Amino acid sequence: MGKPVLLMKSGGEPGFREWRDLLADPLPHLEVRWWDDPAVPPDAVRYAAVWDPEPGRLARLPALRAVFGVAAGSDFITGDPEWPRHLPLVRLVAPETAQRMGEYVCWAALSLVKDARRMAIAQGRAVWDYFEAPGKAPDLTVGILGLGGLGQGCAGMLWALGFKVVGWSRTRKVVPGVESFIAVELPAFLARSQILVCLLPARLETADMLNAALFAKLPAGALLIQAGRGSQTVLPDVLAALDSGQLGGAVLDVFDPEPLPDGHPAWSHPKLTLTPHVGSLPTRAERAVELARNILAFERAEALPTLYDPVKGY
Ligand code: NAP
Repeated sequence: MGKPVLLMKSGGEPGFREWRDLLADPLPHLEVRWWDDPAVPPDAVRYAAVWDPEPGRLARLPALRAVFGVAAGSDFITGDPEWPRHLPLVRLVAPETAQRMGEYVCWAALSLVKDARRMAIAQGRAVWDYFEAPGKAPDLTVGILGLGGLGQGCAGMLWALGFKVVGWSRTRKVVPGVESFIAVELPAFLARSQILVCLLPARLETADMLNAALFAKLPAGALLIQAGRGSQTVLPDVLAALDSGQLGGAVLDVFDPEPLPDGHPAWSHPKLTLTPHVGSLPTRAERAVELARNILAFERAEALPTLYDPVKGY
């Protein structure tokens, strides 16, 4: 009998070859095989490490013991109505995930504060558009919606730049330099957030959350950074708030659907910077180290900090 199989679906077939080479050393007891390899008997598959599996495929692997994500969210697996809920599902949050997200959010915050969009537009038109940059970090409070692993990493880096930081989560947090607000305190949290950063998971409760009613509770001219999930953003409300001045600028990394359709007005809005879901994706090598660590920890029955919690739904 051969080795148990780790079935991989991430980055297409070229991505698979890289995963297989990277995982050979840390996981010598497993055979790493491509998701669409017809020669893999379904009952040989012990683990699956996946991004966006076709609905129903995981449910047809009878010997599967655990499902591993290849990115930080879980929605790209739990979106499958038949995903095997009885099995552990482990999200992949490498140390580099928080570092990279922290860099993205700091970049976005500083480019909003410096009005980098205005400068980029002027440069594109070869116009010397002299203006006095409006603010600086110590004058501004950043509010982080979702003070979890990534939110807390961002908080430390924003604080080091001089921003004041407040955070919002279901449960109260103790994070140095950060004032923590819980769910029912959302209005007080929003009233403080001159720059609002969204790092919430995709859930029923967070769907369409970034809407006109929420923007109305922010200080006038607040700045928005959305790096959570596209399902949380009501994009027409963002554009309307930018037009009215309720929002002074926005950097959006995630959309629903992705890619943003051709011709959408968000592509060219002068107060909106759009990035193609690149907020934080560690390299395959960085993720392979973490994936192997997660699988080995699972096999040793150790605690898994990024284990999906079916009650919380993330
Ligand atoms: P996490 O550690 O699970 O943190 C999620 C945070 O959101 C927690 O603090 C949680 O509160 C809070 N939360 C969830 N639902 C809430 C609700 N209904 N009300 C109030 N607070 C709520 O997740 P993470 O690793 O930081 O990742 C966060 C999200 O970032 C991912 O789910 C994904 O959507 C997004 N992401 C985006 C990219 C990108 O490239 N743009 C990359 C990676 C991740 P508690 O702590 O109290 O439970």
